[in-house]
Amino acid sequence: MLNSEEIKKQLTQVLNPLTGKSILDENRVEEILLENEELKIVYRRDGIDREHKKKLENEILNTLKAHISEDKILLKSISEKIDSNINKNQKQNNPAAHSTIPPKKKIPGVKNVIAVGSGKGGVGKSTVTVNLAMELKNQGLKVGIIDADIYGPSIPMALGKMGAQPLANDDNKMLPLEAHGVKFISFGLFIDKESPVIWRGPMLGKVLNQFFFDVVWGELDVLLIDLPPGTGDVQLSMVQKIQTDGAVIVSTPQDLAFLDARRALEMFKKMELPIIGLVENMSSFICDSCDKEHFIFGHSKLKSVCEELSLPFLGKIPMDGMVASSGDSGTPIMAPNSSARAVVRDSITGIVNSLKNDLK
Ligand code: ADP
Repeated sequence: MLNSEEIKKQLTQVLNPLTGKSILDENRVEEILLENEELKIVYRRDGIDREHKKKLENEILNTLKAHISEDKILLKSISEKIDSNINKNQKQNNPAAHSTIPPKKKIPGVKNVIAVGSGKGGVGKSTVTVNLAMELKNQGLKVGIIDADIYGPSIPMALGKMGAQPLANDDNKMLPLEAHGVKFISFGLFIDKESPVIWRGPMLGKVLNQFFFDVVWGELDVLLIDLPPGTGDVQLSMVQKIQTDGAVIVSTPQDLAFLDARRALEMFKKMELPIIGLVENMSSFICDSCDKEHFIFGHSKLKSVCEELSLPFLGKIPMDGMVASSGDSGTPIMAPNSSARAVVRDSITGIVNSLKNDLK
């Protein structure tokens, strides 16, 4: 294994695809951390769009793969705008924040772990998770979902599997349930609807650990994690325990929802979880009688806020009665046999196409 100076030397060969200059000459490399045979490189991404970010990261991996196996390399990008605030907060609140993060584990067999979060409840985060999963699957990927929304686990209902029970194999590992070609596990499978459990502290941590490491996921291209709204124990556990590739944040167009979403963004950044992008849900209203799209909240402000924060805007989804009813009926709008409007399906396909740029 190389030492950090030798790694630095290797990185002089890695060029910013936009400028042709070495990332070291551009002072982009913030941190090189070698721990337990794993290498973590934190670099500044400012000014590099997603397409070029991918090229750059591939180049880093290609340059280093002769020395370190790819699955032992963790790349983290940071960018100036939000991070400058976070670093300020971190220094004030926790001067040793960097050195206290324990090593994170990879979920076996899973290529990409993507968290789906929101600032507050009811913005359609679970609906978006299920339909992104369905569309990724429609496009030929192997997909799973961990429904970690402890306050309102709705994935079993959205996938038509209310009351189903996961089985265990001979090694006492849990077998995920499967619906419409997507594998999933959910807190909702372990609670009685009438008397909800309050998931707290050690019990919450234990169940999450089982979801991450004791479920036989097999080979997955993407594992989506439907987080509870806001910023709490589940988010903390997730970023501390597993290597998560990034987060998608769902927000509605109202400013208030986005203010909450900003808080979630800050927290993910603080935990060094890259934000893949934002999705605006219920951005307009599609009327059943006239089939027209009405912009009842005005035109999206989220896109300009994303520009302000240098965050990718992944797309928007209209409010449509069929989306709501599909959530209750167990056939998501992106299921092959659904009869959803083309405009809704196209919006989700567009979001998935953007998201795929970030997949390994
Ligand atoms: P969250 O996970 O953020 O709490 P849900 O996904 O459970 O939110 O959605 C809340 C409610 O809004 C559900 O009844 C869902 O069917 C409905 N919903 C979500 N997105 C849309 C949409 N685009 N159009 C219409 N209804 C929607």
